[in-house]
Amino acid sequence: MATEWLQKIPKESIVHEAYAFALEAHENEKRMNGDPYMSHCLEVGKSCFEWRLGDAAIAAALLHDVAENTEFTIQDIREKFGEEIAFLVEGLTKLEHFQYPANPDIENLRKFIISFCEDLRVLIIKLADRLHNMKTLEYLPKERQDRFAWETMEIYAPLAYRLGMQRLSGELDDLAFPYVHPEEYKWLLKETKDDYAERQEYARRVVPIITKELEKNGIRPVNVDSRAKRYFSLYRKLLRYDMDFSKIYDLVALRIITNTVTECYAALGVVHQLWQPFPNRFKDYIARPKANGYRSLHTTVFCIDNRILEVQIRTEEMHEENELGIAAHWAYEQVKDSKKRKAKWKGVENKKELAWVSQLRNWQKNFTGELEFLEDLKTDFFKDRVFVLTPENDIIDLTIGATPIDFAYRIHSDVGDQCVGAKVNGKIVSLDYELHSGDVVEIITQRGKKPSESWLSFVKTVSTRKHIKNALNAGRRMLRKKAGPTAVEFKIITVDRPGYLKDVTSIFANSKTNIISLSSQTDSRMKFATITLRSGILPQQKIEKLLVKLKKIAGTREVSHRFVQ
Ligand code: MN
Repeated sequence: MATEWLQKIPKESIVHEAYAFALEAHENEKRMNGDPYMSHCLEVGKSCFEWRLGDAAIAAALLHDVAENTEFTIQDIREKFGEEIAFLVEGLTKLEHFQYPANPDIENLRKFIISFCEDLRVLIIKLADRLHNMKTLEYLPKERQDRFAWETMEIYAPLAYRLGMQRLSGELDDLAFPYVHPEEYKWLLKETKDDYAERQEYARRVVPIITKELEKNGIRPVNVDSRAKRYFSLYRKLLRYDMDFSKIYDLVALRIITNTVTECYAALGVVHQLWQPFPNRFKDYIARPKANGYRSLHTTVFCIDNRILEVQIRTEEMHEENELGIAAHWAYEQVKDSKKRKAKWKGVENKKELAWVSQLRNWQKNFTGELEFLEDLKTDFFKDRVFVLTPENDIIDLTIGATPIDFAYRIHSDVGDQCVGAKVNGKIVSLDYELHSGDVVEIITQRGKKPSESWLSFVKTVSTRKHIKNALNAGRRMLRKKAGPTAVEFKIITVDRPGYLKDVTSIFANSKTNIISLSSQTDSRMKFATITLRSGILPQQKIEKLLVKLKKIAGTREVSHRFVQ
């Protein structure tokens, strides 16, 4: 088992205790390939060490499968290693239990995972875990291989990319590629084998020429070398260029690492002086970083033998951030405490923020408003959203504070209308229960049940409120319609005169209409009378005939009618 990296960590660090504990816990356990289980934990820990995530995260990485696979619990870890490490391990254990939906909305799933990992270190340790699982994928049964590879390509590699962890993202994609697209992978390998070797050889010839020219111009590059484009990244690019290799200029690119930003632009000038630039191919990702924080200058030139070559120019610090992404932040945080390493990082502090912070801000902007980055490294993404699951593992994205009723209406208005109860994570809860990310919500319905007006006092979303009001109004309309009107009420305003009532009743008698009730009221000045009279339900024609006759009675001022129950 590879433990060399552990020796680089000071003896008194908690990492060593975590190692000893995990080693004992996993003592009798083996991986599929026959290796001791601990070898996996060590690899995950090593990645976190290389990404400089800090001792708590490295310890959590070593312990990440203890609660999952052994007799020890999160509580044991809490007692022995404290709250922070226990919290990280618990997050990882929860994530392990999460079942990916069969037909997920990929974007929602990524958001879910981010919101689920309240602390981004949980996600990054998970990525390290995934990286090692992908490296040892060949030992798993075919079904699990496909599943793992698919998840890696659809979910984890894009998440790593968004965190600016470019190298990791590319590595994950390349590990998944042969499983997800086996035919295409074989084809690409065959097609590019010679090309890669040949272009790499060509780049090697260019390195001393450019190095010499830079030095002649007073630029002492930190490093000049070539990098080969990753297979999956190449494949993706080929899809955009009709699978035409001749259109791919960066299969092998030259990379110049400088000390300062000024030197980046100076080096660019040197390159352009030496070789003619290809038109419209210059990209300044320093002035305008990519959405994920990537910074570099890219140019394509007609190089020696008039061949086309892409050149990438960046500072050492940009290079580090491009490769490590968000993990570079923790590295930076730690460097702040260590005066020794401070010199290497000078210049960083002068900047208001690292590129990845603005990258996260950009990312986050798409979903919510302002992001105030938390000092304690807690993720603040989607702070006004919760992501909950249906029993079928579909992810539902709701406003924070949402209740089971909001959830029910989101599933379907019928589910909302007929909701009589809810279970969260298998336990019955009240309907005003506040849902949390990761909750599995089950709605209990009863056919024909109607929503309660009281729900309006606690539901959170506007659309839920609208649904409830609609259902309540529809209910009232239904009730009226069902009962229907039972009488016609005539209202007559007339000059108060003797014999008027007799004239009215004789009109009803002549048209063979029974009077159910009759009342008469005279106003205070004894001048006008209001007569209210009810008959059974009558056809509209008959009502109109009666109204005409009533208006003709001497003294009538006004006649109206309405249907009543
Ligand atoms: Mn694991």
